[in-house]
Amino acid sequence: MTRNEMIYNAREKYIKTGITNDITEAMGLYMADIGERDEPLFITTPEIHKLKEILKKLRPLCEDCESELFLKLAAKDINGKEYPTAWVCSKCDLVEYSDKTPGEWLMVLQNENRKSDI
Ligand SMILES: [Zn+2]
Repeated sequence: MTRNEMIYNAREKYIKTGITNDITEAMGLYMADIGERDEPLFITTPEIHKLKEILKKLRPLCEDCESELFLKLAAKDINGKEYPTAWVCSKCDLVEYSDKTPGEWLMVLQNENRKSDI
């Protein structure tokens, strides 16, 4: 695949779907996607890096088994519908699809983090 093809694919998948407006970030997501599709969260664009740092301290728990949930990017449900993010419980196979982008989750978690500091 040429670089132009990759940029094209990244744009199709992450910019046109509203996940990000930033082509650098879209490329990061795309590279991660073709590299390790099942890795829950390891991409290191600045925003996602920040999100990852927050998740270390404040990771949502599964409602059923209380184990830690992982954030999956560009998750597809069984009907093939794509969501910007999904929370996955590896223990009981629970997947909670979300229309929130990684950036929106970052804001949500940052707010909760602030609350728990008080
Ligand atoms: Zn669970």
